[in-house]
Amino acid sequence: MDDLQKRSWAEIFTDSIRHNYRAIRAELPEGCRFLGVVKADAYGHGALRVSQILEEEGADYLAVSCLDEALELRRGGIRMPILILGHTPKEYVRVLIEYDITQTVTCLAKALEFSEEASRLGKTLKTHIKVDTGMSRLGFLCEGEHFEEGVANIVAACTLPGLETEGIFTHFSVSDEDGNENRAYTLKQFALFLSVIEAAEETGKIRFAIRHCANSGAVVNYPETYLDMVRPGLLLYGYGDTSGRFGLKPCMRLVTTVSTIKYYSSGTDVSYGRHYTTDKLTRMGVLAIGYADGLPRASSGKCSYAVAGGSAPQCGSICMDMCMADLTGLPEVDVGSEVEVFGEKNSIYEISDAAGTIPYELLCAVSKRVPRVYK
Ligand SMILES: *Cc1c(COP(=O)(O)O)cnc(C)c1O
Repeated sequence: MDDLQKRSWAEIFTDSIRHNYRAIRAELPEGCRFLGVVKADAYGHGALRVSQILEEEGADYLAVSCLDEALELRRGGIRMPILILGHTPKEYVRVLIEYDITQTVTCLAKALEFSEEASRLGKTLKTHIKVDTGMSRLGFLCEGEHFEEGVANIVAACTLPGLETEGIFTHFSVSDEDGNENRAYTLKQFALFLSVIEAAEETGKIRFAIRHCANSGAVVNYPETYLDMVRPGLLLYGYGDTSGRFGLKPCMRLVTTVSTIKYYSSGTDVSYGRHYTTDKLTRMGVLAIGYADGLPRASSGKCSYAVAGGSAPQCGSICMDMCMADLTGLPEVDVGSEVEVFGEKNSIYEISDAAGTIPYELLCAVSKRVPRVYK
């Protein structure tokens, strides 16, 4: 970062990423692999940097959402296995093979396309099968009446020429949520996943070397689901450990600065829409961060930021590039002072709750304009 600009930046604590990796790893039984989810630029933390750390630390696998994300890592020198969780058009099978990228297979039709392309090239594409056990998103539908056809399609997909099936996985929809109903749903998803694997392997035509399903919620709440590999994302970045079991550390601190400070008399309307009116003589700071930097506009007027000597309530609508905060009674805060939007002092949940969203969305939303400063 050009230090003189000092507008807004995101500090990324690489030691905390290492710490979190090791803390999660320490919970896994011997032989259980670790896949780090680094999609969406590693939840805003910088996919290449995070992947380099995971590679150094000895993680086993990485997962991204799409081909571009996988290529960024390969071109950056990452050698470890990479799984693409989403779909890749068949036109890119050649690229997948060339860069040794593992592709998720979500249905028989896609498997047939991939097989045809790989066979035409005389090469083999490495794949993982995705099973839909109740998330109702991507994956072979295997629930209830779909069980037999689902299993038959998986076996068919695995035995096509040009495809090498290395693994099979499913995704939980409520493993991070409390309550008996959510527990029952997650365990039902898990049981179905195991039944699908058993039925497919019983045919004698296929054996899955890597069976995986534990996302962050399941890593914390369902150790029985670890199988051959765990697949956390959020947890790695220090969030989602609701029970505090792993003692994780948040890896990002979003910081902005005070551009200017003005005194307004009582009754002054502030920002677009005049949604905030001062009710006292107010020492108002203009902060160099707005929704184009990733601050959710929905949190306007509903949260505070951490500053020297206390906390500054955000006032009025958050603008594209700026927002305002009440610095009355905070004499240590001056023009140029740092303001922590979220981090150690100001929990990310303060902002995500105010915006009616989840930490995932805030982390991913920190935009390209905000330089990442690695500590
Ligand atoms: C995003 C994603 C994950 C990681 O989820 P977290 O809740 O961040 O741990 C795991 N698996 C799949 C298929 C995903 O899409």
